[in-house]
Amino acid sequence: MRSTMQDYPLTVGAILRHGSGVHGDAQVVTATGDGSRAQSYAELGRRAARLADALRSLGVTGDDRVGTFQWNNGEHLEAYFAVPSMGAVLHTLNIRLFPDQLTYIANHAADKVVVVDGSLVGLLAQQLPTFETVEHVLVAGPEAASADLDRLRSSGKQVHLYEELLDAADESFAWPDVDELDAAAMCYTSGTTGNPKGVVYSHRSSYLHSMAACMGVAGGLTWTDRVLPIVPMFHANSWGLAYASVMTGASLLMPDRWLQAEPLCRFMRETRPTVSGAVPTVWNEVLSYLDQHEDVDLSSHLRLVLCGGSAVPVSLQKALGERHGISMVQAWGMTETSPVASVARPPAGVEGEDVWHYRGGQGRLLPGVEGRIVGDSGEVLPADGSAVGEMEVRGAWVTAAYYRDDDPERFHDGWLRTGDVGRLDELGYLTLTDRSKDVIKSGGEWISSVELENALMAHPDVQEAAVVGIPDEKWQERPLASVVLREGARVEPAELRDFLAKSVARWQLPDAWAFIDAVPRTSVGKFDKKVIRRWYADGELDVSRAD
Ligand code: ADP
Repeated sequence: MRSTMQDYPLTVGAILRHGSGVHGDAQVVTATGDGSRAQSYAELGRRAARLADALRSLGVTGDDRVGTFQWNNGEHLEAYFAVPSMGAVLHTLNIRLFPDQLTYIANHAADKVVVVDGSLVGLLAQQLPTFETVEHVLVAGPEAASADLDRLRSSGKQVHLYEELLDAADESFAWPDVDELDAAAMCYTSGTTGNPKGVVYSHRSSYLHSMAACMGVAGGLTWTDRVLPIVPMFHANSWGLAYASVMTGASLLMPDRWLQAEPLCRFMRETRPTVSGAVPTVWNEVLSYLDQHEDVDLSSHLRLVLCGGSAVPVSLQKALGERHGISMVQAWGMTETSPVASVARPPAGVEGEDVWHYRGGQGRLLPGVEGRIVGDSGEVLPADGSAVGEMEVRGAWVTAAYYRDDDPERFHDGWLRTGDVGRLDELGYLTLTDRSKDVIKSGGEWISSVELENALMAHPDVQEAAVVGIPDEKWQERPLASVVLREGARVEPAELRDFLAKSVARWQLPDAWAFIDAVPRTSVGKFDKKVIRRWYADGELDVSRAD
């Protein structure tokens, strides 16, 4: 029997219609460095229609790709809605990718148009001549008019001022009907190994993922919320926060390019976010800032900070909670999973110190995503809290392939192999111990770099720590800890080793130590361990031994 329900397509256009209609009074506020600029969601709807009309008149049809090279701001949000809603495909370009990789993804996706922020024109101009399929460049934002447009024009592409195009466009653009299974947007993994790989989201997957992001267990969003996505809109869709906010009528606060702790905190004081999201490195910096500025109190409005992208140290969560009244919740996911797959809230009835066992892990899967742990020979391991293997997932917003890239290694019987190693317990809680490429293999046993890093970062003098495996004749690999100390702190490796010995088995303790000024970062702000391994191999690290 078929249901009697209507066939209502779950599309990005449906989110826009709802958000700009029912929640027309909600706002998107963009930081300007010395203040902010704002527009209503009703205006977002009107301007998205103008943008779609302008793109159509430039020849964007069918599933043409429109790239964005923008900060988190009002114009980027317009593209987020206009492009998928007109049936085209949004491709968020990571502004921090290595130049060659940027060229690779723009050509691989065959972008026809790129929307660039005025402040990023110089950066784009260097690569633009290598973007083979791009015909038009739209320059957006307050700095568009003063940007060096001739430099862009010298690439042979047609260059337009975004606002001029919008002024000339028709606000009553007729949005087409779009199949919910068609491509809405695409995003490339940041390519820590090899070339980046493209993931293509459907309208349906974007809609369902947005609803999941709104669930109480995740963001718990309502129209009284004010959401600050610090995680870039080019990094796994800013974790779905943009679509989820417009869907619920929560206002959006966009930090634009002001991402350092000081301007971020100023923006937060002025705009009073209730929910925010960013990788741990950002919150580490905010924490240091808050520790030094007692007059800054975010706790009166900020009820939830979603954090993920890499393991979120318990010490960071505790420090923000205990010293600044800010509740941080860890989430896990990847570009391939739209990205949010699990959220680390403790089980019912668990209280006090016991919550950290759960809040320190990657949490429980959201409905719509299933997971299992798989051993070396592809066998499914028990979810008993101790069997360790690779996490595999499948679900409504999990990719089944990469775009024009045959990579069967990453898929297994319809499941995505995440490349993350860990265990699941009887209650469905996931604890990751490493990415498979970062696992340290010592004497036939595995040492978790993540556990060592978390334990080290709990030391009061340690600002950050990254642990990698280095070759060892006897043990195959041994851990090397690269440590960034807090300003003015002085600690010897032996003391850090003793500190670690309180929570980590002796054979797992790092025997090589290096003090560094900063942990190198990837283009999305994660620890770049491959750089540390290279420094070590090239003899660029001042390593001392403590064993
Ligand atoms: P990239 O693969 O280029 O780093 P992604 O942002 O898609 O780009 O990264 C996804 C990966 O980030 C996951 O596979 C996992 O290794 C890591 N990750 C994300 N969230 C967490 C988390 N809460 N704890 C540990 N690792 C995480």
